[in-house]
Amino acid sequence: MRFILSILLWLVPLQSLEASPWEKISSPSTGKSESIGTYNNGCLAGGEDLALQGDGYQVMRSHRGRYFGHQSMIQFLHDLSNGVRQLELGQLLVGDIAMPRGGRFSSGHASHQTGLDADIWLKLTDSPLSQQQLIDVQPLPMVHIKDYKIHQENWGEEQAMLVQLAAVDERVARIFVHPVIKEQLCKREWTDRAWLRKVRPWWGHYYHFHVRLHCPDGNKNCKPQKAPPAGDGCGAELASWKPKSEPAKNKKKVAKIKKKPPRPPEQCLVLLRK
Ligand SMILES: [Zn+2]
Repeated sequence: MRFILSILLWLVPLQSLEASPWEKISSPSTGKSESIGTYNNGCLAGGEDLALQGDGYQVMRSHRGRYFGHQSMIQFLHDLSNGVRQLELGQLLVGDIAMPRGGRFSSGHASHQTGLDADIWLKLTDSPLSQQQLIDVQPLPMVHIKDYKIHQENWGEEQAMLVQLAAVDERVARIFVHPVIKEQLCKREWTDRAWLRKVRPWWGHYYHFHVRLHCPDGNKNCKPQKAPPAGDGCGAELASWKPKSEPAKNKKKVAKIKKKPPRPPEQCLVLLRK
């Protein structure tokens, strides 16, 4: 049994490196933006590119070509950076959105497939970064992962306001942050706490947050996700994320064997052949 298990574990890295055909496509398809399928198994028709620089934001690591999104995501990012500018929080650093026609990445994320997911760093810059800096820039951790504690020097008012600004937007369905970050947001006194419902705890999101938009109107092949549970999510559910044992040991258990990716929706296979 042990022998079989070690063989399986040996196979895992090979499978996760399996190339995704979507990574070979360098241009979006023409026509109106349409998200197809689910966030974790879908694609994007009529993708729009986010200009690499704009008022109040910059795209990082653009050589990876992951700055395409549904038109409504591109509009959302412009609106968010405008809001950030008005509040004088700094400059936004935008990470991965989606590939030109969406689809599965061969490594990294399971979602980001329909052009409705985007990663934004919690680190805000005072002034625009140079081209080289946009490649080399290092993430700023907001959480001491091992101690399951907030990083007091890096996390502050600006970060809390940034997440709130994104979450109150009605186009936003969910935001993922590390549970310790959610804890910080829960602790604060907000006049309106309804938006906290959308802020969902998830491992890994300790230097960036992940914004997920609702299926845009009229995109009938876009499959929405169930709404988050009622309430602000600050009670027992959040507490249940706190590791009972040493987080390092816990991490090992999380590394599970990856399954073969599911077959994409038919409309996506058509898009792939176009
Ligand atoms: Zn993400």
